Amino acid sequence: MYKYFNNIWLGLSTIAIGLKITIEHLFTKNVTNQYPEKYHPIKSGDLALNARNRLLLKYDDCNGCNGCVRACPVNCITLETCRVVPGDEAPPLASGKKRGLWVLQYDIDFAKCCFCNLCTEVCPTEAVIMTQEFEYSTSNRDDLLYKFSLMPEEQVIEKREMAAKFAEEQAIKKAAAAKAKAEAAARKAAEANNAEGNNAEGNNAEGNNAEGNNAEGNNAEGNNAEGNNAEGNNAKTL
Ligand code: SF4
Ligand code: SF4
Repeated sequence: MYKYFNNIWLGLSTIAIGLKITIEHLFTKNVTNQYPEKYHPIKSGDLALNARNRLLLKYDDCNGCNGCVRACPVNCITLETCRVVPGDEAPPLASGKKRGLWVLQYDIDFAKCCFCNLCTEVCPTEAVIMTQEFEYSTSNRDDLLYKFSLMPEEQVIEKREMAAKFAEEQAIKKAAAAKAKAEAAARKAAEANNAEGNNAEGNNAEGNNAEGNNAEGNNAEGNNAEGNNAEGNNAKTL
């Protein structure tokens, strides 16, 4: 009997404790927001430093080195560059260094990006960075392709044409230099052959002279010997 009434008392007391906590919260200030109806803007520094959000390219800082493209494990960065040809005026990088490449196209497809952060780690100029922006969801995948190049289309075409023309001129110059080098080498080889031929002729002439002299000498010796013999014979006769 005691146990029966004790259980009823425990049940009622725990209900009272639970209701007390609930009633207290009816009169305290809300700590949750009904996102996205009620928006709580993220202030700089609110997110953790290693938070993975939307990337941003600081276009004037990018030197087109291709490091981020090589590092990206899912190939979601598309980069097109062309060299700044001699005579073309290019603004320096934000760091003050000379710009060697125009960045014609720099796209990131955030539908593919896995937010590994490798691109920001390898970037030598800190041109690509993580922002605090994380609210960019959309129902259209095409909207997730972000184009960061600030170069107008007509200027892109102009830079491509200038780079192609310069490459063509360089190829012609290179071919001409290679041809001149080959001709010079052939000329040098021909001169060396001529010199060898002359030496061989000279040697033959010397050889012939020597042989002739020897023959003449031998004949003279023979004649002398014969003469002596004749003289000898004469003596005997006498
Ligand atoms: S965060 Fe990773 S996946 Fe996304 S663009 Fe950078 S390297 Fe590629
Ligand atoms: S964003 Fe950085 S790593 Fe990528 S091409 Fe530009 S300078 Fe190189």
